[in-house]
Amino acid sequence: MAERYDLVVVGAGPGGSSAAYHSAKAGLNTLLIDRQEFPRDKTCGDGLMPHAASEVALMGLADWLDEPHHGKFTGFSIYTRTAYLRQGVPPTLHGPTGYVVKRQETDARLLERATSAGAHLRAGVRATDLVRSASGRVAGIEATKAGESLRFETPIVVVADGVGGFAGKGMKAHQNAVARRQYFRDVAGPDKRDLHVFITEDMNSHGAGYGWVFYLGDGRANVGAGVSTASLARTGRNLKDFYDRFLEEPQLAAWLENATPEGPPTSWSLKMGMWGAKRYGQGLMAVGDAGSMIHPVSGEGVGYALESGRLAASWVHEAHVRHDFSASVLSGYERQLKHRRAREHLSGYALVNLVPNMVLLDPIFKACEKDPEARRTLLEVFTGDSPVYSLLKHPTTLAKALRDGVTERLNRA
Ligand SMILES: Cc1cc2nc3c(=O)[nH]c(=O)nc-3n(C[C@H](O)[C@H](O)[C@H](O)COP(=O)(O)OP(=O)(O)OC[C@H]3O[C@@H](n4cnc5c(N)ncnc54)[C@H](O)[C@@H]3O)c2cc1C
Repeated sequence: MAERYDLVVVGAGPGGSSAAYHSAKAGLNTLLIDRQEFPRDKTCGDGLMPHAASEVALMGLADWLDEPHHGKFTGFSIYTRTAYLRQGVPPTLHGPTGYVVKRQETDARLLERATSAGAHLRAGVRATDLVRSASGRVAGIEATKAGESLRFETPIVVVADGVGGFAGKGMKAHQNAVARRQYFRDVAGPDKRDLHVFITEDMNSHGAGYGWVFYLGDGRANVGAGVSTASLARTGRNLKDFYDRFLEEPQLAAWLENATPEGPPTSWSLKMGMWGAKRYGQGLMAVGDAGSMIHPVSGEGVGYALESGRLAASWVHEAHVRHDFSASVLSGYERQLKHRRAREHLSGYALVNLVPNMVLLDPIFKACEKDPEARRTLLEVFTGDSPVYSLLKHPTTLAKALRDGVTERLNRA
C-alpha cells in the first residue's frame, strides 16, 4: 500500500528543506525526498546574503552561522572597466552581515533542521511523475529508488527540484544563465570581509555576467563566473571559455599567482527573474530555482529559495485547514511572493534582457563611485533589495552618467 502524507516536497536543497521544516513544525505529516544522498555538494558561490541569513536564523541556525570557519562579509567591492565601488552592507539588507559557507555544509544543516522538526526524509529517491486522480487533481507522486518503483499519496506537492524540471509539463521555467566556480586556497586579494564582484568587459560586451571572489573563513575562496545564456548564443562561446578568460584578467591573475586550486571547476545553470514561470496550480507549488526565484542581476537564489519555501509551507497549512487544494487557494502563495519580490526581480530581468550589453552601463558605475547615496542604491539594485528604477532617485548622477557615456561614445567614434 502506498504511504500517505499531508505533503510531499520534491528536492531537499534550501527551498525544499525550508518548506519541509516550516510544514513539519506546523504539525503537517511531511515527506521530503531527494534523488541524491546527503551530504551532497551543489555548485554555487556559497554567498548567503543578509536576508538569506535571516531565513537561516528563522530555522534555528543563527549560532551555527557564526562558526569561525564560515566566511563573514560586511561590504562589497565592485570592479568594472572604469570604476571601483566600495560599499558597506546597506542597513536595508536585513542586517549588517552576510556569510560565505560551503553549500555541502549549509544544505546538510538545513536538511537536519527539517528532519528534527519531524519531516520524513527519503534520500536517493527520484520523483518521476505526478499522480493525478480521474478528475485531474494531484493525488501523489511516483518515484524510483535503485530501480524500485515507489508511490507516495498526498493532496499537495511542493516542487523544490532546482533546475530539475520534475513537474515540467505544467510548471515550466527556463534556464537563462550558467555559472562555474572553483575553490582556491591562499587567494591574495584585499579585504576578505568583502564580496568581490568583477563586471568585466569580456563578460558584458554581448550581454550580462560577472565574476566573483567570495572568501570562506578557512583560507579558501570560491572563485566563479556567470553569464546569461544570451551571451553564449550571441558570442558562440561556452561558459568554460568565459571562466578561463576571467581567471586571466590581470587583477585576478595577480591575486591567484600563489593560490592553489582545490578540486576541478564545476558548472550549473540558473533560472532567474520570476519571469515566465508558473509557480502554482491545483495541488502544486514551486519554490526556489524550480520557480525561477534567482535574482536576475546578482544571481543570488538561496535566500529566495528559503523564503519561497517558508511562504509555500504557510499555504500548504492554509489549504489543509480549508480542505481545499485548488489553484485558487494556492494563488495566494503567488500573490504574496509577487508582493514581496516582483518589483526587484522583474525590473532586474528587464534590465539584463533589454540592455544589449552591460558595458553601456559603465558610466553609471563611474558616476555612482563618487555619490554615496547613488552608490548605495546601485548596490541595493545589484543585491535585489531595490528595483532598478529606484536609481531615478538620483537624477544628477544619472545625468552625469548619460553625459559621460555620450561623450565617450563620440570620442570613440
Ligand atoms: C555557480 C553558481 C553560483 C551561485 N552562487 C550563489 C550565491 O553565491 N548565493 C546564492 O544565494 N545563490 C547562488 N546561486 C544560486 C543557488 O545555487 C540556487 O538558487 C539555490 O541552490 C536554489 O536552491 P533550491 O533549493 O531551489 O535548489 P537546489 O539547491 O538546486 O536543490 C534542488 C534539489 O532537488 C533535487 N532533485 C532534483 N530533481 C529531483 C527529482 N526528480 N527527485 C528528487 N529530487 C530531485 C536535487 O538533487 C537537489 O538536491 C548560484 C548558482 C550557481 C550555478
